[in-house]
Amino acid sequence: MFAQFGSLAQFFDYFKDDDTCLQYWISVRWNGNISCPHCGSENPYVTNRGYKCRNVGCQKKFSALSGSIFENTKVGLRTWFAAIYLCTAHKKGISSLQLSRDLGIHQKSAWYMLHRIREAFKAEAPEPMGGEGTIVEVDETYIGGKLKNMHNSKRREMKEKKRGISDNKTVVMGYLERGDNIVRFRVLPRQYMIKDQVRENVDSSSVLMTDSATTYTIIGREYAHHEIVDHSRKEYVRDKVLHTNTIEGAFSLLDRMITGIYHYVSPKHMQSYLNENAYRYNTRKATIPVRFEDAIQKFEGKRLLYKKLTA
Ligand SMILES: [Zn+2]
Repeated sequence: MFAQFGSLAQFFDYFKDDDTCLQYWISVRWNGNISCPHCGSENPYVTNRGYKCRNVGCQKKFSALSGSIFENTKVGLRTWFAAIYLCTAHKKGISSLQLSRDLGIHQKSAWYMLHRIREAFKAEAPEPMGGEGTIVEVDETYIGGKLKNMHNSKRREMKEKKRGISDNKTVVMGYLERGDNIVRFRVLPRQYMIKDQVRENVDSSSVLMTDSATTYTIIGREYAHHEIVDHSRKEYVRDKVLHTNTIEGAFSLLDRMITGIYHYVSPKHMQSYLNENAYRYNTRKATIPVRFEDAIQKFEGKRLLYKKLTA
């Protein structure tokens, strides 16, 4: 049932108008069983403007867009779809300026749409990664400061000394489950210890794979096994298994997105950019239509108020 499009031109041919997009959305959202977004009861009355719940205790009116990110926006569904396509299909994402030019909309609208789209990629209370016999690479990076230009040994020294570093940098933790190579990025809040966040994100029955920083040595004791890659001894790949290259590769893609496309990301919005990037990474093997449908399914019940974003 997947739509057939590989290029942007095919995409616009396929989704030729807002109504085609609406029909696609209805099929993805309800898959034939239309249910009330307020109480969940199925088989509503069809009215001339949408639906009315059949449940006597509810009887609320709703439309196909109720409760979704597309509700109450002036932007047409086709424009929304194109924005989702562009945001997920481009390797490094798309800036609000570029999106506004590509779609002929105001930059402010483009900015708002991209934030809503990113919000949909957020997993609420995700389960710990890994498990028995599974290797999870863990590493951290610093975004938004000068640290990345520093010499490696100096950088390591600073890492060892102080995890919070200076005001303008955000510490981002990366977790990568080997096998399918699923990545997760998490901002490390200032008051948080690395080991506490590792505990939350990696199941203790996993094999932990990290660099030799002291904090990892300590938390490593709580895991089934802990493998340490000692960069200072040029031990990058002792054998095929012992490395943190996969998470470092994911970090470098992230860095290219942040510095290449967005130039600057405020700490407040950092986590949602990380989610967007991780989503693209984790769906890298999917074809464009499959990824598009997967992304679209995430937009139900994800309304994000403009006030909340700019507060
Ligand atoms: Zn209802």
